[in-house]
Amino acid sequence: MTIRALVGAFRNRSFATHFASYSRSLSTLVLAEHEGGSVKASSLSAVEAAKFLGEDNSVSLLLAGSGPSLQEAASHAASCHPSVSKVLLADSDKFTYPLAEAWAELVHVVQQRGSYSHIITGSGSFGKNILPRAAALLDVSPITDVIEITGSHLFVRPIYAGNALSTVRYTGSDPCMMTVRSTSFPLGAVSARSESNTAVIDKVDLSTFSEDYGVGKSKYIGLSSQDTERPDLGNARIVITGGRALKSAENFKMIEKLAEKLGAAVGATRAAVDAGFVPNELQVGQTGKIVAPELYMAFGVSGAIQHLAGMRDSKVIVAVNKDADAPIFQVWSNHTSLLSFSLSSLIQQDHQRLCEYDCSPTQDSLELQVADYGLVGDLFEIIPELLEKLPEKN
Ligand SMILES: Cc1cc2nc3c(=O)[nH]c(=O)nc-3n(C[C@H](O)[C@H](O)[C@H](O)COP(=O)(O)OP(=O)(O)OC[C@H]3O[C@@H](n4cnc5c(N)ncnc54)[C@H](O)[C@@H]3O)c2cc1C
Repeated sequence: MTIRALVGAFRNRSFATHFASYSRSLSTLVLAEHEGGSVKASSLSAVEAAKFLGEDNSVSLLLAGSGPSLQEAASHAASCHPSVSKVLLADSDKFTYPLAEAWAELVHVVQQRGSYSHIITGSGSFGKNILPRAAALLDVSPITDVIEITGSHLFVRPIYAGNALSTVRYTGSDPCMMTVRSTSFPLGAVSARSESNTAVIDKVDLSTFSEDYGVGKSKYIGLSSQDTERPDLGNARIVITGGRALKSAENFKMIEKLAEKLGAAVGATRAAVDAGFVPNELQVGQTGKIVAPELYMAFGVSGAIQHLAGMRDSKVIVAVNKDADAPIFQVWSNHTSLLSFSLSSLIQQDHQRLCEYDCSPTQDSLELQVADYGLVGDLFEIIPELLEKLPEKN
């Protein structure tokens, strides 16, 4: 072979490789969580995220569990989102509880058969628990906390507790695995499918499922969750959060009452959780839940960077703190005074419109960095006044 032919062959080969990597069709496996016979909203957001990977992406949803609730969830999955073309059902006692080791091996088995180009899940504790283990079994490097998808292999994710955004190009082999923040891929107006147009439901063949990969190394002990009718913290329109300043679990009930009046979810800082005022599942922040409600009200929350990482994308942030220099009130360098407005302007007759209230800053050029509205005062006076003046929830 002449040198020219050799160079030509290399050229052709590199062209072929390049072409192959970009012309390959997309197929995405979404690892879905279900509860009470329904697919969770965070998993539907992962389906929504898959749409941004590119056109002609065939999306399969993987559900695991056992018993009638799995079958119910499968029916829901088959009709919940128009992008889902197939539901894969792993029905076994091994998956009665979502233990990461069993799930990781399941993903391994399903990927070996389906050769998906992408595997996506929500970045809640379910996804965070499973995805790294599954990625290790598949020998790829996962990308976590994706907030924007700009191409099939190009993603944006926050770093330094959300203080910078990093654009990541995935250059590894398939599958490209990632967790996505559900707040960045809201469901919007997803139209449910008609009964005649539901996705196919296929059972996963578990004959090659290996128990060697740590299955049995963890054990399900129990589930403790709050028996409440309040909206889910991750998807609520309004979140009312309390910090260490509440001082006790008893006092924290004021936050819960306020949330009830506003039809809001309750959140807490890590300091409040560590002090035992509320359970861990209510923690908002870098190591808690990420929320982006229309209205976020923070009472006695200093605004530590790790807390802000979980709520800074909220549309309107209201902070109540007795310290005018608290970081949550931080202002841009040359604007020094805090917004001051009367409590009565905060309270609307129609509490549905709470986030639309009008108020005038004391300085024309004032801009707040974190809180859109700040109130300097003692929460032990302000919350009771709010509770008294807000109308009862219908
Ligand atoms: C690796 C790591 C991860 C972390 N992850 C998280 C996380 O996910 N979420 C999180 O929240 N934190 C997290 N933290 C902890 C974080 O750094 C802060 O310590 C925590 O957020 C502080 O909580 P806080 O605002 O309730 O308490 P504090 O910082 O003690 O603030 C209490 C605030 O209440 C005000 N106050 C006191 N009394 C009153 C009153 N009567 N009326 C009104 N205001 C009052 C005070 O002025 C103060 O600003 C993390 C820390 C680390 C190191």
